[in-house]
Amino acid sequence: MAAQNPEHVPVEHYRVDPALFGGIATIDPNANGGYDKASAKPIMKALNARVEELQENLYAHGKERLLFVLQATDTGGKDGTIRAVFDRTNPQGVHVASFKKPTSEELAHDYLWRVHKHAPAKGHITVFNRSHYEDVLVVRVRELVEEAVWAKRYEHIRNFEQLLADEGTTIVKIFLHISKDEQRERLQARIDDPAKHWKFEMGDLEERTLWDDYQGAFGDMLTETSTPDAPWYVVPANRKWYRNIVISQILVDTLERIAADEFPPDPALAGLTIS
Ligand code: AMP
Ligand code: MG
Repeated sequence: MAAQNPEHVPVEHYRVDPALFGGIATIDPNANGGYDKASAKPIMKALNARVEELQENLYAHGKERLLFVLQATDTGGKDGTIRAVFDRTNPQGVHVASFKKPTSEELAHDYLWRVHKHAPAKGHITVFNRSHYEDVLVVRVRELVEEAVWAKRYEHIRNFEQLLADEGTTIVKIFLHISKDEQRERLQARIDDPAKHWKFEMGDLEERTLWDDYQGAFGDMLTETSTPDAPWYVVPANRKWYRNIVISQILVDTLERIAADEFPPDPALAGLTIS
């Protein structure tokens, strides 16, 4: 029996259409869609249950692939999103690829080299925790390559994602949108709680001083690379419970398109009894 979603969480508003998009500043990071923590809870439970079923269908059929890209500023909530949204999935069919500072071997190649090999296989979901977009974000803001080099990358990325899509990969890209105040609180919480120190890096404070530059780079990334086959969603992410229902709904909507059918019963097995 398919799990029933009590209601469809509106998400289309957050999808970036480059022709209409007015910039990240037009999306309120505090938005709650009219929900509160209590009303979001049963919705999240139902969405998790539906994700579980759909992911099993995807895995059982072994035909479709899903690439789920997560980008955000530091403390944006990528790790928490992965834990919450994929909570009930089967780890055999869901993979997380985290992209850190490139190794010397990775730097010796083009920037997509390390990325392509993590693209999902048939029947699988791969979550990119950061991605090739770092190469037009941190690389741009930190001036790790010249503008003439990074400026060409939007087109490479559109073409790369189109290649994946044309070859049968479904792509969804999520930008977790938090405010600068929210980042201050989350960084402070990491400092104040020793159990969270592992998540904190001194470098995060320096990155924070470049907040405006990053917002500019995020804006360009969204308008340059949101395409019909690889759309971006800007998700208000100050409130974790709202972020989680919005992203789960986007995941469910996407999986409903490619994995709604349950694996069909095999007539040859009907009535078969093992002696
Ligand atoms: P975290 O996600 O907190 O573990 O941090 C990973 C770090 O790696 C972040 O500071 C990213 O900006 C950085 N990073 C990821 N990809 C790249 C890249 N292509 N070039 C430079 N830095 C990167
Ligand atoms: Mg970090």
